[in-house]
Amino acid sequence: MNSGLSLLLDFAFPCYCVSCGIPVSSKTNHLCSRCFKSLKRAGGGCPVCSSLMDEEGCGFCSGRRFYPSKHISLFEYEGAVKGIIHSLKFGGIRNVYKVLTPFLADSLEEFGSSIDFITSVPMNRKKYAARGYNQSELLALFLSKASGIPFRRILREKKGSAHQREFSYSARYINVIDRYETISNCNINEKTILLIDDVFTTGATINECSRILLDSGASSVFSLTVARSDLKKLENI
Ligand SMILES: [Zn+2]
Ligand SMILES: [Zn+2]
Repeated sequence: MNSGLSLLLDFAFPCYCVSCGIPVSSKTNHLCSRCFKSLKRAGGGCPVCSSLMDEEGCGFCSGRRFYPSKHISLFEYEGAVKGIIHSLKFGGIRNVYKVLTPFLADSLEEFGSSIDFITSVPMNRKKYAARGYNQSELLALFLSKASGIPFRRILREKKGSAHQREFSYSARYINVIDRYETISNCNINEKTILLIDDVFTTGATINECSRILLDSGASSVFSLTVARSDLKKLENI
């Protein structure tokens, strides 16, 4: 797009930063440069699941079966990252995830293995009907386009599943069991799958979806989320 036309569009349809609210050019994908620079990478995590570790090691994957061969959470769930995820989930601003796509694409080599398909955590059917899109699927589609790795819709929620958000964080572990299934005729035998979601909170959803993928014939599963939220902070709210 030429700069004159882009200026005209910015004037006619002003864009705002999803995190701090200042006006921005549409070319920024709804995030100002200051908020972009403030995105905080999730460092110091467990090499297997990216969770925060304490003196005793990883409190998340060491005490239970963790199905992905490796999980990466890119950012802490705070500040501008929270703004990005909320604006897509609740504000319907789809292009905002394009800001994150290069980070997702760059992280692929950390898995150290070639990936056959990218897929996403499915959304509750009622929620999908109300919202019209699945934000994790959008993210997976942007990543597929950027990386050239094909996207496949592989998983879905079984009929009658309750919203995960209706449960306390500890109850979410129980609620996800047997909640998902693969779409029929989807052959993933001996394939390596990358599973995408927005936030890693209890890890229960990622773990259960990975279990189903492996049960359905996948040779290995890697998983990737935009952010990791500190479960201890959430439990104290
Ligand atoms: Zn901003
Ligand atoms: Zn771990």
